Amino acid sequence: MEITVAKYAGFCPGVRRAINMADEALRVAEGNVYTLGPIIHNPQVVEDLQKRGMNILPDDPDALQDYYLAGCSVVVRSHGIPPKLTEFLLERGANLVDATCPTVKKAQKAAMRLAGEGYKLFVIGNTDHPEVKAILGHVNGEAVVIKETSELKEWWESQTRKVRKVGLIAQTTVDLLMFRSLVDGLINEVPELIREVMELKIINTLCRNTLARQAEALQLALASDFVVVVGGSNSSNTEFLRKICESTGTAVVKVESADELDLSLLRGMERLAILGGASTPGRIVEEVRRRILA
Ligand code: SF4
Repeated sequence: MEITVAKYAGFCPGVRRAINMADEALRVAEGNVYTLGPIIHNPQVVEDLQKRGMNILPDDPDALQDYYLAGCSVVVRSHGIPPKLTEFLLERGANLVDATCPTVKKAQKAAMRLAGEGYKLFVIGNTDHPEVKAILGHVNGEAVVIKETSELKEWWESQTRKVRKVGLIAQTTVDLLMFRSLVDGLINEVPELIREVMELKIINTLCRNTLARQAEALQLALASDFVVVVGGSNSSNTEFLRKICESTGTAVVKVESADELDLSLLRGMERLAILGGASTPGRIVEEVRRRILA
């Protein structure tokens, strides 16, 4: 059997940076070390950090009220946090270790720039995603989050005042199809928008690493008889890779660890591809490869 391990399997640069910063905080900090929510969507990595003394704080500010944080180190994960939460943590005396991914920071800055220049801001993404919540926090909630053109249409129809300037950004990990469909919808499916709006500014905030990972997943799925996607069951980017592969008609299975893989599924397969999500350690991808070869 020919096995191809994806070039982009394993941590993305933002996650790798966050894990390294959490490691370093555990190494040097004198007080307690916390992350705001699990640092990544991978149970093995989170468990390993917990064994080494990392504690997890709720990422909901209301739930944080009861914690004594003075002198503690708080690692902000790659999704970033709203400025109000940063202020709250600093007021409580916490030392912030800001592991917000630089690509996410660019999206936050793009949002602030557009809002500051008077554009009505739209963010393509998921309202509940921590990255989107952090972006909204950077513009005092003055943005509309959309996932489908119909939402954009509804918002437009509910407005009584004319809107002359529209700005658009996206959650960094939104897939290209969704981004394209919303940009297309904005121009082609909301005719009132084009009649009224004098300026339309789109800032491409999509993560290059995510786009490359998704493009590679598609290529490998098309060239293989079977795909194994490795990643946390709660990781949405891993699930999206699985869906991309499934859309090609190639058989695909998603596993969290090597032990979970049912080897009988691979019988008779000639070309196998192994993919990993952005929050999957390369070590687990390698364990899957070794188990298949054993
Ligand atoms: S997926 Fe992209 S934007 Fe998100 S943490 Fe990784 S590198 Fe940063």
